[in-house]
Amino acid sequence: RAKADGRSCSRFFAPEMEAQLQARLAMEADLRDVLEKRQLELFYQPLFDLQEGRIRGFEALLRWRHPERGLVPPDQFIPVAETTGLIVPIGEWVLQQACADAAGWPSDLKVAVNLSPLQFTSPQLSTAVSNALVTTGLAANRLELEVTESVLLQDSGVVLALLHELRGMGLQIALDDFGTGYSSLSYLRSFPFDKLKIDQSFVRGLTGGAGGVAIVDAIVALASSLGMTTTAEGVETIEQLDQIRRAGCTMAQGYYLGRPRPAANVLADLKSTRCPILA
Ligand code: C2E
Ligand code: MG
Ligand code: MG
Ligand code: MG
Repeated sequence: RAKADGRSCSRFFAPEMEAQLQARLAMEADLRDVLEKRQLELFYQPLFDLQEGRIRGFEALLRWRHPERGLVPPDQFIPVAETTGLIVPIGEWVLQQACADAAGWPSDLKVAVNLSPLQFTSPQLSTAVSNALVTTGLAANRLELEVTESVLLQDSGVVLALLHELRGMGLQIALDDFGTGYSSLSYLRSFPFDKLKIDQSFVRGLTGGAGGVAIVDAIVALASSLGMTTTAEGVETIEQLDQIRRAGCTMAQGYYLGRPRPAANVLADLKSTRCPILA
């Protein structure tokens, strides 16, 4: 119809949609040379071991330091990087940088790296991982890869083979945001996950009555009976920390325990963090 009355297709868009589309295109254009311009940074958030009462590692969280936009969080640009395919080179940069940073930490600390489901469709993934390990000298058992349930929606044969190959290198695989996906639980039997990261929404639900506690208890029991450990995400209060300890979670992560911080702060934070679990 737009063609028929001789106008451009943008006629179909309301002005605010037009503005959104422009913003998206501008972001796409900016993202294209983000690596050459060295505008990406990794922040690190501590992962606490609840049994040992100490920091066991850090999760790498990507940030885009844009000259005009400021510090852009991943939820705003990773979807754009995924639709343009840029997530593959960006993901390789993340792997390389995270392994390089972790190689400078005490050797009892691990680094966790998030992977996009799209990286699993690229045959370069295992090469990218082994390159990152070899060039930085990081031992494979100090690297953990985080994937979300959405990865399981892809060709499961390919994903399964890749996960086994990666694990065969000696690293660990965590299932991120567990419980928020829509796949059936049966995949847990066939996929080689080492750890379930219990989504923040369940940790928040702990203070909303008995049902919330029952769900976390059930996830911990399920994980342990399948030989996996658990990390509670998004722990913001001491009450939540108490409850996830009681539920038997292995690890905890959240603002109460430590916020994501620039790479340069990691070693200083390690020294100054009074372990809130022992306090
Ligand atoms: P995620 O992997 O589940 O990471 C946890 C997110 O929760 C992080 O958000 C973290 O800052 C936030 N968080 C941690 N503790 C708390 C808390 O106590 N309360 C609340 N409200 N939030 C907390 P962030 O850094 O904005 O990252 C968002 C998501 O972006 C990540 O979720 C991950 O899925 C994705 N992401 C981050 N870095 C990368 C990357 O390098 N590659 C890919 N593919 N995805 C990444
Ligand atoms: Mg994660
Ligand atoms: Mg998560
Ligand atoms: Mg998430």
